[in-house]
Amino acid sequence: MTHLVWFRNDLRTADNAALTAACQSDQPVIACFVLAQEQWRMHDWSPARIRLVIDHANALAEALAKLGIAMHFLEAQRFDDSQDALIRLCRDQSVTTVHFNEEYGVNERRRDKQLAQRLGETDVTVHKYRDQCAVPVGQVLTGQNQPYSVFTPFSRTWRRWLDDQQPTLYPQPAAKGDPVTPSRIDPTTIAGYDQAPPPLVATGEAAAHDRLEEFLADPVAHYKQQRDFPAKDATSLLSPYLASGILSGRQCWAAAQQVPATAANQEGLACWVNEIAWRDFYIHILYHFPRVSMNRAFKPETEALDWNPSTEHFEAWKEGRTGVPIVDAAMRQLNQTGWMHNRLRMITAMYLSKNLFIDWRLGEAYFMSQLVDGFLASNNGGWQWSASTGTDAAPYFRIFNPVTQGERFDPNGDFIRRYVPELAALEGDAVHQPWRSGKLPKGYPRQLVDLKESRKEAIARFQALKEEN
Ligand code: FAD
Repeated sequence: MTHLVWFRNDLRTADNAALTAACQSDQPVIACFVLAQEQWRMHDWSPARIRLVIDHANALAEALAKLGIAMHFLEAQRFDDSQDALIRLCRDQSVTTVHFNEEYGVNERRRDKQLAQRLGETDVTVHKYRDQCAVPVGQVLTGQNQPYSVFTPFSRTWRRWLDDQQPTLYPQPAAKGDPVTPSRIDPTTIAGYDQAPPPLVATGEAAAHDRLEEFLADPVAHYKQQRDFPAKDATSLLSPYLASGILSGRQCWAAAQQVPATAANQEGLACWVNEIAWRDFYIHILYHFPRVSMNRAFKPETEALDWNPSTEHFEAWKEGRTGVPIVDAAMRQLNQTGWMHNRLRMITAMYLSKNLFIDWRLGEAYFMSQLVDGFLASNNGGWQWSASTGTDAAPYFRIFNPVTQGERFDPNGDFIRRYVPELAALEGDAVHQPWRSGKLPKGYPRQLVDLKESRKEAIARFQALKEEN
């Protein structure tokens, strides 16, 4: 009579619905995590993300071992095999109940449904929990009980639900028995682990909470004014923890509630909590509109867009050789660190989908293959927003000019100089338009496309689509 907690995208012991529920029984509890390396490859997991997940799965195994809960690391190449591995573990360990927190990608949902059916045939009970969002999926609906597809009204209902319900956090469970010896994944057996850039954030749940506390203690007060300036490092950098569930959205919301509001921090706090709402919004979209996780556009009519096939331009974009300084600096930040600032994600995504007119799906997959915080719901949502194919999308005619964006959000060019050494010696504004002097710095490429012309062409293609529909 053993309970099993299957950890997936929720690598934490505190505020974890599945773990808390399993520990409420008097029976022994064990845990498992599936190393589905082939599936990770198919889902474009980056080395940075693989390393973060492996390190945190090991840290979780240690934390659980102290609570008397043994972690079993299971090998399975793909989701299909993970069902077999789970069923074997249940049989070998006399498991009667399996607990897990829901995930919302189509493959994940299919896997969980099939597993529940197969376990049911062996008299193992499955309990699943809606734990991924601050407000559980299905709870934020319009007056007509429909899902929202526009962020602002979603966020209003989202905030009202939290104000009304004041959800409490699940405490870290008490020990289930004497400590056990922690099991450990050997990172040398994991493909991609050793190709990761140096870790961006410290490992462990405690480190995530330290960062959250530090951010809310002061930087949050300046968040609204400074968050769009990549050289200022003014955002929380909590996304690696949130994307792998080392920290929950609910914990972020609850921690923000605890901060005494002052005239100085009020705006910043509200603005930051709104970002947690964006995270929930895109998860709710994935849940209600599963097509977005199957390479489909949220706006079906945009699937008729005739994207450029240019592989050369795509390669240049990936490598940060487009000849547009802010785009190149951003792409190099991504390639070197596994992370990119939010403003720059929008600029680079819009440049790829609107100026180069390359299919947003290629950009989405490339981001995923590099990001330490790669998260299907937010990545897809961000790409579809930028490409004007998504829910609350940027109108197709409102296209960022990446040079103007650079001048506005990196006014001194500090960020560009940090990542594009070819431009480091340029003084003042020249760093944003290195072609203006008539001679490009050595090694820096010419622009791939004319920004004005390509913008016009993109608008014309969207316009034509509109007329056809
Ligand atoms: P903060 O500004 O401190 O925000 C706090 C948290 O709120 C973030 O950690 C994140 O969980 C959430 N958040 C903030 N902005 C957004 C947003 N626009 N959409 C959804 N959630 C948000 N975020 C990911 O976590 N994973 C991705 O794969 C991802 N891909 C993106 C792709 C594109 C094209 C775009 C435009 C945005 C993408 N984002 C993604 C959203 C956003 O860029 C990052 O969440 C943010 O840059 C993370 O930095 P931070 O933790 O310092 O954020």
